[in-house]
Amino acid sequence: MKVSRLLLPTLREVPSEAEISSHRLMLRAGLMRKAATGVYSYLPLGVKVLKNVENIIREGMDSHGAQELLMPAILPKEVLEQSGRWDVFGPEMFRLKDRGGRDFFLGPTHEEMFTITVRDEVRSYKNLPMTLYQIQTKYRDERRPRFGVMRSREFIMKDAYSFDLTEEGLDKSYKNMYDAYCEIFKKMDMDFTVVDADSGAMGGSGSQEFMVKSDVGEDTIAYCEACGYAANVEKMAGVPTECDCPEGDLEAEKIYTPNVKTIDDLTNLFGCKPSLFVKTLIYRADDKIVAVMVRGDREVNETKLQNYLGCLELEMAEPAAVTEVTGAAVGFAGPIGIKCDVLMDIEIEKMKNFIVGANETDYHYKNVCVGRDFTPTAVLDLRIVTDGDSCPKCGGSIKTAQGIEVGHIFKLGTKYSKAFSCTCLDETGTDRTVIMGCYGIGVNRCIAAIIEQHSDENGIIWPVSVAPYKVIVVPVNTENEVQKELADKIYETFKSKGIEVLIDDRNERPGVKFKDADLIGIPIRITVGKKAGEGIVEYKLRSESASADMTENDAVQAALDLISSKI
Ligand code: ATP
Ligand code: MG
Repeated sequence: MKVSRLLLPTLREVPSEAEISSHRLMLRAGLMRKAATGVYSYLPLGVKVLKNVENIIREGMDSHGAQELLMPAILPKEVLEQSGRWDVFGPEMFRLKDRGGRDFFLGPTHEEMFTITVRDEVRSYKNLPMTLYQIQTKYRDERRPRFGVMRSREFIMKDAYSFDLTEEGLDKSYKNMYDAYCEIFKKMDMDFTVVDADSGAMGGSGSQEFMVKSDVGEDTIAYCEACGYAANVEKMAGVPTECDCPEGDLEAEKIYTPNVKTIDDLTNLFGCKPSLFVKTLIYRADDKIVAVMVRGDREVNETKLQNYLGCLELEMAEPAAVTEVTGAAVGFAGPIGIKCDVLMDIEIEKMKNFIVGANETDYHYKNVCVGRDFTPTAVLDLRIVTDGDSCPKCGGSIKTAQGIEVGHIFKLGTKYSKAFSCTCLDETGTDRTVIMGCYGIGVNRCIAAIIEQHSDENGIIWPVSVAPYKVIVVPVNTENEVQKELADKIYETFKSKGIEVLIDDRNERPGVKFKDADLIGIPIRITVGKKAGEGIVEYKLRSESASADMTENDAVQAALDLISSKI
């Protein structure tokens, strides 16, 4: 492709809403443009990258025996009725009506459709195991679309579903997808970590996420450097630590604490560490109000809380509801005499003589003990693990990092197959419920994650496998016939070998051409300049600062060798 003909609207300035480098670079390098919040058009360069990523995924899935099909994005309400998800999805799902007033939705994910397909089309164990997948557009009206295609409202997902008759079969299918994912992400040159993930309230017997460590990631990964165990913090179990609480059987005492609302205010007033306080937070879980207790220096893990409660919606209770159960203004909640269930983090069992709100405006209790002064409704792991915590597997020290979730594999079990009566006959002729797994990769999010890991101040540095064009040939002076001829010849050589190649035939200063080539991240640059007459060109990789003079043939060969080693 000639750069002069390419729709390549590079930008110097980008909208301030582009907060992270991948978002800025995707706009600056002319890969995409915004159509609405969380909705993007892809321009030619962007489409090429998208297709390359899709094909890496497709090859990885196909080589592991998965079969591709394609489901509609627009589906009737009935599809979700049997699984109960018409209500579960809430405002995240785009809903619409047809001209006859019938309810439809835009698919946020496709478990139901795949289950229905296998129920209707597969009868016998002879066809199992089977893994089906699609690469298809999903719609989710996210609460907080941001970071460009990282969290958008329309996005492309590769979603796959496995079908087995036994748990061992599921384990095998799951491992097969695990292996496929490792190959796929390696091929994209991603530096990824696999972490244990939350399986949600509805169970499922296991789940892992593929994370790309990055400061802009919205997930937090907790990992142990000693044993290598890693989990999403949503999932990682909290190991209770000992607390240096005051010793002895001290009597609970009500203390006047006017205008004291935060843990900071309290530590100032009492002159002690936040870990000697216990926070009581009031939540609304669907229609129910519950109190949740964690140590003063801890945060509540809302995923663990929601899994325990099995609620659809979980949010901090509004002030009126707080006052109703505590009888006090917000900021003075405590477990003693509160009029709702009290869920207590297990770590508090290690504490005594601690400080809590008194359920009376402007008062706290000190020297409170579990069992003696109050009895919680339930005691469970409810906190977020942080740096320095103990590893639940080996006791080593936990570290945390931000991560971008690019893929998720999940043992679903029979949740959907039961709901849809998806059964198959086994060897003995008995009808058995099919056991499922599901496996997702965010195609567009992969592109953003790759750029987060492969870019510098000058632009994108595409891995060869996903690069929209592998080589850019740059004649320094397009008016010089010798340079022009040699550049054209090299360009034609790559084309004839089926290599995606650009030639920057614009009558621009070389500095401008180099800047653009760097911005759009083409992995190999071959510059044809003053030494063209001797058949010498400059060979430079985008990932390296050095360049080398080579004969035209050597440069072409070096490029071909590099490309074939990556594709
Ligand atoms: P998240 O926690 O980031 O919202 P999720 O758990 O909802 O992700 P899944 O339903 O497991 O995601 O979807 C599979 C994959 O699709 C994710 O691993 C992610 O890469 C991608 N994905 C999910 N939501 C979005 C989105 N709004 N924009 C872009 N990609 C997304
Ligand atoms: Mg989500």
